[in-house]
Amino acid sequence: MSYRAPVFDIAFALKHAAGFKQALDDGLYGDLSEDVIDAVLTEAGKFATEVVAPLNVVGDRAGAVFKDGAVATAPGWKEAYHAWTQAGWNALAAPGVWGGQGLPQAVNVACLEMWNSAAMAFGIAPVLTMAAIDALTAHGSDELQRAYLPKLVSGEWTGTMQLTEPQAGSDVGALRTRAERAGGGTYRLTGQKIFITYGEHDMTGNIVHLVLARLPDAPAGSRGVSLFLVPKFLLNPDGSLGPRNDVRAHSIEHKLGIHGSPTCTMVFGDRGGATGFLIGEENRGLACMFTMMNQARLAVALQGVGIAERATQQALAYARERKQGRAAGTREGMSPIIDHPDVKRMLLTMRALTGAARAISYATAVAVDRAHRSTDEAARMAANERASLLTPVAKAFATDVGSEVSSLGVQVHGGMGYIEETGAAQHFRDARIAPIYEGTNGIQAIDLVTRKLPMSGGNAVRTYIAELRRTADAVKAANDPAFGATGARLAEAIDSLERATEWLLKQPQSDAALAGATPYLRLFAHAAGGALLAEQALAAARLAGESSAPARIALARFFAENIAVAATGLERIVTEGATSVNASEAALA
Ligand SMILES: Cc1cc2nc3c(=O)[nH]c(=O)nc-3n(C[C@H](O)[C@H](O)[C@H](O)COP(=O)(O)OP(=O)(O)OC[C@H]3O[C@@H](n4cnc5c(N)ncnc54)[C@H](O)[C@@H]3O)c2cc1C
Repeated sequence: MSYRAPVFDIAFALKHAAGFKQALDDGLYGDLSEDVIDAVLTEAGKFATEVVAPLNVVGDRAGAVFKDGAVATAPGWKEAYHAWTQAGWNALAAPGVWGGQGLPQAVNVACLEMWNSAAMAFGIAPVLTMAAIDALTAHGSDELQRAYLPKLVSGEWTGTMQLTEPQAGSDVGALRTRAERAGGGTYRLTGQKIFITYGEHDMTGNIVHLVLARLPDAPAGSRGVSLFLVPKFLLNPDGSLGPRNDVRAHSIEHKLGIHGSPTCTMVFGDRGGATGFLIGEENRGLACMFTMMNQARLAVALQGVGIAERATQQALAYARERKQGRAAGTREGMSPIIDHPDVKRMLLTMRALTGAARAISYATAVAVDRAHRSTDEAARMAANERASLLTPVAKAFATDVGSEVSSLGVQVHGGMGYIEETGAAQHFRDARIAPIYEGTNGIQAIDLVTRKLPMSGGNAVRTYIAELRRTADAVKAANDPAFGATGARLAEAIDSLERATEWLLKQPQSDAALAGATPYLRLFAHAAGGALLAEQALAAARLAGESSAPARIALARFFAENIAVAATGLERIVTEGATSVNASEAALA
């Protein structure tokens, strides 16, 4: 089944769950109007549905092919990428000075969901280009910016992000790729990187690699890494493509999913060293890479949302058609499986988790926009903390949701889900990478607990929890029976979040905190996701004549009564489960 971009739902979540409407009303986006945003999202939805989605199956079956050092992308991939850049989608949120449209990051993120729903292996390429644009804009010299940003922004060239080496995965500081000073502000890079997404391909004339490497006199560990721009083709003084640089793809990986995305082993310096240009300062590369990674982590969250949305659409369509057994209250004939409560539960779980992941991810993007655009310094700093707090939650929760929901999608299809021809299996295979790359979800949880909770002495997280509580109170105050126990269940989830947070704040770096980091992140997402879905439902109920209100209230209620209730158990895992993790080696012997 093909994908139909849920443009109305996306726009509604953006405006009413994620706080975009409030940001517009606050003047954060100047004279940008809701109509313009709606038009952009509608066009993106059309492009994703009509041009990108049809590539999904061919990308999976034909995949990217490596031959003689070159990578051919799947049939139709190159043409679609060109049409996509021509339509201006790569430049949507990029700075106007380099040819970008300067639209809000939140709108770009909503579009990213659609590109990734349509074909996740396609959607990941621009994610890396956009991240490279961010890193260069924030840390690149004027010269590098002038030479590379216009073509990265237009999409004429793509970017890569190169951290991983065989011995340096989560532990980036263990990397060994060497960079030697070569005079004239250039460096010579030698070494090998693995698992590099779109490290080589045939869609663009040049590829701009952003590579972490170590200078000969650098301190050990992550304080001794520097970031370099290493183009596939060096540039002539007039900006045209010059000689081939000494960086090559050695091979591509055969992998579980996203077959359309080439995952390359890259070799630097087979012929004396690849020419690289420093971004930022020597030995400060990790800070620059973090700019890139924050952007990419949020984008990967949208991969999770995108694949979950697509799997949900497909499962719903199948469940309406497939007939088995007889549902209670039906007198004759077989019932569509959607009528069986257990299937209904799966479908509602899919929709509710997807909605919660979407709302959290979009809210993160609005915080990013506020952090960049607010004119008030204090507001900018508060928004920066909010974005920092939510980014690991968005990345880990949304990508876990992508995996869980696409797995449920296979389950709803029964045996047909396990057979490749339905496409449900591809979503499941594709989704599985997102909890791993851009920092595994375990690393995200550790980041949340050890670095994000202690921000401002815990005030950033406490302020957020207080906001969530206001939503639970508003649901109770609405006194609408359609919400059922939503207000009470959300309040319980928020209580659990608050207690677990205070417990962690007393010992954020301890083994006990590390053992509970992943369940804590889930608990955080259950409380936040539930509140944001309720926020959206309240907004729909307030809008006169909003026909989607009953559906939004029902979804918020399902989440609160069937998913958020896990929060109390998660709290217990965080605050009481650590001993049985850290003192149970015997069980692993
Ligand atoms: C398809 C694909 C595309 C990729 N694209 C890119 C790319 O474009 N650029 C790039 O640089 N990399 C890329 N990667 C690499 C990816 O980012 C890494 O695989 C990922 O960061 C995990 O590193 P690792 O595989 O070495 O696993 P490891 O670091 O060995 O982790 C294994 C397990 O141990 C856990 N773990 C590790 N250290 C800790 C710790 N300190 N505390 C707690 N738990 C820990 C992890 O959470 C994980 O569960 C890609 C990988 C794949 C498969």
